[in-house]
Amino acid sequence: MAVSKDLLDILRCPYCVSGETRKAGDDPGRLKLVCDGKWLVCQEPDCQRKYPIKEDIPVMLIDQGDKWMNTAIEDLPEPGKLVEERPMSASSPSAPVATVPTTDPMILVGVGVAILAVLALVGWLMMRRSEESCAECDQD
Ligand SMILES: [Zn+2]
Repeated sequence: MAVSKDLLDILRCPYCVSGETRKAGDDPGRLKLVCDGKWLVCQEPDCQRKYPIKEDIPVMLIDQGDKWMNTAIEDLPEPGKLVEERPMSASSPSAPVATVPTTDPMILVGVGVAILAVLALVGWLMMRRSEESCAECDQD
């Protein structure tokens, strides 16, 4: 279980191959496998970004590389799982809990139908009552 060599051959540090931060040379941003194949380190001398390999999937995101660029290779932690397990009560700044309430449209439709049904019933009762009172009037 490891990242295949074919994949490693084509993977490059995203910071060093794209945009204005592209490094000089024909093939910048080469990566080296370290820590028993758990981390990839950019070989550009002034980059040193490190990318975790989670469950055999290299996480090639610049913000991930930034996070570890000042960490020595021997201090790198276990890369962890691809999908982090988040405790329900956690309020981690990197994983904001969604505060937008999820509104099920079917609930809204149900409430609307219920309100209409009540209004129709009230209206029907009032019509009946006025008809009855008029009938009484006619009798008198
Ligand atoms: Zn790099």
